[in-house]
Amino acid sequence: MNSDLDVLIVGGGLVGASLAIALDGAGLAVALAEAVPPRVELQPSYDERNLALAQASVNALHALGVFDAATPLAPLRRIHVSRRGDFGAVRLDAAELGLRAFGAVLPARELGNALLRRLDGCRTLRRIAPAQAVALEPRDDAVEASLRDGESTRRVRARLLVGADGSESFVRSALGIGVQRHDYAQSAFVTTLTTERPLDGLAYERFTDAGPVALLPLGERRAGLVLSVPTADAARVGALDDDAFVALVHDRFGWRAGRFSRPGRRKPYPLARALAERTTAARSVLVGNAAQTVHPLGAQGFNLGLRDALTLAELLREAASSGADPGDAGLLARYVERRAGDRAATTAFSDDLVRLMGNDVLPLRVLRSLGFHALERSRTLKRGFALRGMGFRGDASALALQP
Ligand SMILES: Cc1cc2nc3c(=O)[nH]c(=O)nc-3n(C[C@H](O)[C@H](O)[C@H](O)COP(=O)(O)OP(=O)(O)OC[C@H]3O[C@@H](n4cnc5c(N)ncnc54)[C@H](O)[C@@H]3O)c2cc1C
Repeated sequence: MNSDLDVLIVGGGLVGASLAIALDGAGLAVALAEAVPPRVELQPSYDERNLALAQASVNALHALGVFDAATPLAPLRRIHVSRRGDFGAVRLDAAELGLRAFGAVLPARELGNALLRRLDGCRTLRRIAPAQAVALEPRDDAVEASLRDGESTRRVRARLLVGADGSESFVRSALGIGVQRHDYAQSAFVTTLTTERPLDGLAYERFTDAGPVALLPLGERRAGLVLSVPTADAARVGALDDDAFVALVHDRFGWRAGRFSRPGRRKPYPLARALAERTTAARSVLVGNAAQTVHPLGAQGFNLGLRDALTLAELLREAASSGADPGDAGLLARYVERRAGDRAATTAFSDDLVRLMGNDVLPLRVLRSLGFHALERSRTLKRGFALRGMGFRGDASALALQP
């Protein structure tokens, strides 16, 4: 046995790294075990996808010292939602609703760089990488984890084990927690484009029968694109040259942003939902994608996972200051209770949006157009919708509420 820890976080992706930072200096012995070495280009979590960060997430990452004035955050000030073939559109404008911005857009790679820099500055955190969790043994007073690095395996003991190891979570299956999966039969191509006109803080979400298209402002005339296609069509789309790809994007998105050019490298992500049947077990808890993986439409995945991490960090800090056991069943029950509403609402929202917007049945088209019309005309509805989208929902962590 190599060490005795208060908290072992398995998985140093976007959510696990954020949790480790939020726990630094809390007076707890915390270790972060990550399967790949700590370099941004090796981390599957720190890739080319462009993340729309809700304002609550931006606030929290500033408060944690992950973001500073040099972080290339592109503000998200206006949102245009429409569906090809339906009447009307919804336009949300932060200034009209008395808000500065709905959030910001940042490539996951830049967020990864910012997290790695901040992890380097952590005072009390122990980082173990590369270290892949390969076995878990629950005991009464701790969980023992075997961490493998090449040929060698070390065992660590922690009073609380956190599974932040993503959609295919080893921790989840080793704890015997079931998972409900749904394959959307869609793949999302993620890339960047140059737009003829600057987007100036405007994001578009456009729904079509073949799947949704999102265009996110990255500053100046660069935009992040998420183009969903039926998975059966993904190989064909992946093989298109730049001109043919741009023509496909125009066909699906239209010409609202003018002519597109210079598409970057493209990578398809198969889209599936995976919901853990429970998020805790004895002395163990799941956060982020390990707990719930949602469709990227609506840009909720990391934002929701960060809220898991912030609430867990708050409870663990309270436990540390009163000398309580961080793996105590009562603490885990409080965590489940505090996260339940947000988790249920956000996973249902992401899923309902895919079903509602992807369906071409006539009554649904009429309902959608009426919904668009009602939302477009009501400032109160728009503001409520915007505030939930900005992450101010459920039992928000104090860090998220800081300006
Ligand atoms: C196309 C696309 C667009 C998206 N856009 C948005 C958006 O705009 N806004 C938003 O909020 N979210 C978005 N998301 C969702 C977001 O990317 C995820 O929710 C987020 O990356 C989840 O982070 P995580 O840390 O929970 O998991 P991961 O990112 O999967 O990280 C898991 C980590 O655990 C490590 N690991 C795995 N197994 C082990 C093991 N056994 N031992 C040790 N380490 C292990 C892995 O190496 C990895 O580093 C998008 C997703 C996709 C696919």
